[in-house]
Amino acid sequence: MDNESRLKAIIENAIDGIITIDQRGIIETLNPAAAAIFEYEPTEVIGKNISILMPEPDHSNHDHYIENYQRTGTKKIIGIGREVLGKKKSGTTFPFLLSVSEVALKDKIIYTGIIHDITQLKEAEHAFRKLNTELEERVQQRTSELFDAIKQLKETNAKQKEAEAEVRKSLEKEKELNELKSRFVTLASHEFRTPLSTILSSTTLIAKYEEIGDRDKMNKHIDRIKTCVAELTVILNDFLSLSKLEEGVVPNTPSEFNIYMLAKDIQDEMQSTLKEKQTFTCVHKGPETVYLDKNIIKNILLNLISNAVKYSEKGVIELSVAVTNVNIIFTVKDEGIGISEEDKPFLFTRFFRAHNAANIQGTGLGLNIVKRYVDLLSGHISLESKMDHGSTFTIEIPKISVS
Ligand code: ADP
Repeated sequence: MDNESRLKAIIENAIDGIITIDQRGIIETLNPAAAAIFEYEPTEVIGKNISILMPEPDHSNHDHYIENYQRTGTKKIIGIGREVLGKKKSGTTFPFLLSVSEVALKDKIIYTGIIHDITQLKEAEHAFRKLNTELEERVQQRTSELFDAIKQLKETNAKQKEAEAEVRKSLEKEKELNELKSRFVTLASHEFRTPLSTILSSTTLIAKYEEIGDRDKMNKHIDRIKTCVAELTVILNDFLSLSKLEEGVVPNTPSEFNIYMLAKDIQDEMQSTLKEKQTFTCVHKGPETVYLDKNIIKNILLNLISNAVKYSEKGVIELSVAVTNVNIIFTVKDEGIGISEEDKPFLFTRFFRAHNAANIQGTGLGLNIVKRYVDLLSGHISLESKMDHGSTFTIEIPKISVS
């Protein structure tokens, strides 16, 4: 086979399209691959301008491209190769790699274009990009799902911790309450013994004095029994109040009432518990109507006054009430044993008893209860005292408006 035939065979059988044009852009030859790519019969395109195989804008501009190159010699595509769009007979466009070379024949110059169809490559690339984007989106979605899950987990964790803390708190509270109760049982069994044995011996003595008809002695022992019962009642009441306060079930329910009348009632109530050399006075300043929880006020005052009676042998016990525009001030004053400077800081602590009170019956609960009642009313309690001269407890309760 001669060289020309061999070259022809190669061109005829090439997979890539090969088209030659003359200097004006007129198609001179195209191999079967090129015809197949553009879906034309060779006879349909030979002799036509190459621009029929191009979509816009190349279709309209191709003549200028050639003219430009021939005028300036600037190569935009020749010898470079580029990715361009082709237009098939059916009008559909497709991407291909075009490499153009300039061939100088004996009598003229022609241009040869090799067309390598990259439709499938582009489709694969497109599919790959799409897949990639989908993958990225999926990763992003999974990541955000993961973040959500972590967030939820954290929230659940925090809630669980909160619940745990709540349970721990209530357990501690219950433990404290149990300790309080068992401490009280120990204390009560001790504190109850004296008044109970006094009551027992007094009843025996009353029976005996009845036999001999000694009414004075009988009355003395009846009074003693009354005092003992009062003491026992105080202990029980203190404990009940404390239990209720601990459980947080003491309501602050204010209502309008006459505070002076209440002070007078308390005076009457306390009269029978006074010792022989004690007197009780009641002083009032300002308007008489107040808006407070009457029960709480009564409890506070009874507690302070019974202490004043208990911790003094003689002298005046004074309850004073002053109602001002902003607050209500109560003071309970006695001339009793007083409280030492060292003991003062602990006075409102539960179960605390001052050193000079060892021989006097008591549980150390009363002032703690008073303090908690005062707190409940957003008030303030203070104390002035001098050993062997007496004590004054002052309570200030802010006024609240009638709503
Ligand atoms: P209790 O009287 O049952 O001991 P309180 O809590 O009422 O308990 O009082 C605590 C302590 O404060 C008392 O034990 C006592 O030492 C001291 N105290 C309270 N009131 C007075 C008072 N008016 N004068 C002297 N000491 C007092």
